[in-house]
Amino acid sequence: MSNYNWCHNPSCHTIETQSRVRGTGDNKVLRTVKIKQGRYNWNDDNTPNIWDYFCNQNCLHQFLGKFAQEVANLNPTPKPKETPIKVKKVKEERYRYRYDSVNGQERVPYMSTRTEIKSVDND
Ligand SMILES: [Zn+2]
Repeated sequence: MSNYNWCHNPSCHTIETQSRVRGTGDNKVLRTVKIKQGRYNWNDDNTPNIWDYFCNQNCLHQFLGKFAQEVANLNPTPKPKETPIKVKKVKEERYRYRYDSVNGQERVPYMSTRTEIKSVDND
């Protein structure tokens, strides 16, 4: 048995696409899009998925724009969080390419410094 949701964008039914047209003759309407739950659940488990509630990115972002404050209040974040890390500078040889009309293309080595971020276990 399949379950369905209606797109949660309150303005979904005002977007003019042929896929939203329902009705016959002079009694046509634009209807909110019906969404089959689990349509993008490739793992076939019951993982919650945002696309079970919105027909597309346009509707999702219209919803987020309209309810931005309410959405933010679902997870109040009065101060930043921090993740402990170790930062390591790693030197390595890299190459750049130089072209001139005498030698053509030439590969030129140089030393580069890369910053490596390692997570720290804090059990
Ligand atoms: Zn929609």
